[in-house]
Amino acid sequence: TAVGDENDVVVIGGGPGGYVAAIKAAQLGLKTTCIEKRGTLGGTCLNVGCIPSKALLHSSHMYHEAKHAFPSHGVKFTQLEIDLPAMLAQKDKAVSGLTRGIEGLFKKNKVNYVKGSGKFISPSEVSVDTLDGGNTVVKGKNIIIATGSDVKSLPGITIDENKIVSSTGALSLTTVPKKLVVIGAGYIGLEMGSVWGRLGAEVTVVEFAPDIVPSMDGEVRKQFQRMLEKQKMKFMLKTKVVAVDTSGDGVKLTVEPAAGGEQSTLEADVVLVAAGRIPYTAGLGLEKIGVQTDKAGRITVDKHFKTNVSGVYAIGDVIPGPMLAHKAEEDGVACVEFIAGKEGHVDYDMVPGVVYTHPEVASVGKTEEQVKSLGLAYRVGKFPFLANSRAKAIDDAEGLVKILAEKETDKILGVHIMSPNAGELIHEAVLALQYGASSEDIARTCFIASVVFFYMFSAKWNMFLKNLNFK
Ligand code: FAD
Repeated sequence: TAVGDENDVVVIGGGPGGYVAAIKAAQLGLKTTCIEKRGTLGGTCLNVGCIPSKALLHSSHMYHEAKHAFPSHGVKFTQLEIDLPAMLAQKDKAVSGLTRGIEGLFKKNKVNYVKGSGKFISPSEVSVDTLDGGNTVVKGKNIIIATGSDVKSLPGITIDENKIVSSTGALSLTTVPKKLVVIGAGYIGLEMGSVWGRLGAEVTVVEFAPDIVPSMDGEVRKQFQRMLEKQKMKFMLKTKVVAVDTSGDGVKLTVEPAAGGEQSTLEADVVLVAAGRIPYTAGLGLEKIGVQTDKAGRITVDKHFKTNVSGVYAIGDVIPGPMLAHKAEEDGVACVEFIAGKEGHVDYDMVPGVVYTHPEVASVGKTEEQVKSLGLAYRVGKFPFLANSRAKAIDDAEGLVKILAEKETDKILGVHIMSPNAGELIHEAVLALQYGASSEDIARTCFIASVVFFYMFSAKWNMFLKNLNFK
């Protein structure tokens, strides 16, 4: 396809939102071009997000298990060491294999791939400064903005990806820092803090808010924090970083209570800034064609992912909604379905989330706080893994399952799981919620109670106890 020819769909950005949208559009028979400036496909998620972080989480977990869990199972080593370059190389191999895989999928599905940075010159034309130094104009009847998000920096703190790193730098540290300070107790900070903590760093998490992971169910969050503290992660909540000094060998941070008060100093070898992510629209020329954004810089769209400019759509991290890869992918599919004149569907209330620490914390639907604030009458079923046979058998029994159901109808409102493999277990609950199941539906389903579906056992147990465990 000549790039100058008019496409049915042009996608700017080759992340989970953009590449999925492009492949789906091509599969629906639409002539499609995807523009990506990074040089590799897969966006933040595959290159510097989900995938490399999960690789390091797994590798560091194996080390940690070998050191702390294997001996109680009778598996002993005479010598155990970390080969950090090998660990980083395995992560890089996973990333390059996957990003190349998407390029293969583009070829197979006949998506035209333009490597370069795109900028609107009109609602149907994108000028691309190509990575090989040229320029081309890509025309499309429909243009989808899928430019994702970027690290949010903090005033007075310059990320140098050396001593002061973003999540990107934290994925490639060449030595294990002795002291790591993480600014921000969201899931990215806690995951990366866990990685380096397991490998031997002393980790202190500084958070402005009174709680870690604000979107998490309060009760689960409390247990989660206790669990992380057991793993020697330190928390300084309601605390703000007011100054950072990198002039010496390491970093000196000045912190003070969020509400103001006496200052103190913290020392670190490396500081990870993980205070959130912001929509990325720099250099896109949105102002040129008049695409509206909200106060947070997110592109405003309607239910069909249409911006205020006809023929221009937006999906993924650059629009409101959970900043998660699977949500971006869902947006991408639904958006091109609408463009192709079909029906699309994404329900942001049903987007599951996982924190990939150990144990993992996964959730779908509403938290107890949200249910309360909606004024709904509800019941709660809870069960600790401490009383679960499989969890006891593998000596990994930290965590719980919490199910919230509407009192009148018994319809499930939310499920929260903290356990090993919670990120897989949650999918049972995602289906249940999507199908509008009641907690009794789950309880009456035959699961392998003690072996794999730990949490379903918990639901059953609550059934057996009738209302004992419900309030
Ligand atoms: P992105 O993935 O950000 O992709 C946008 C792409 O657009 C980029 O490649 C960028 O180079 C390109 N681009 C931008 N502007 C232009 C332009 N003008 N021209 C051409 N190209 C352009 N999510 C999960 O669901 N699970 C996880 O476990 C998870 N872990 C994460 C861990 C970390 C450390 C981070 C940082 C993020 C993680 N996320 C995770 C979030 C996930 O990465 C994002 O939600 C997801 O990547 C958003 O997809 P997107 O397609 O909207 O944007």
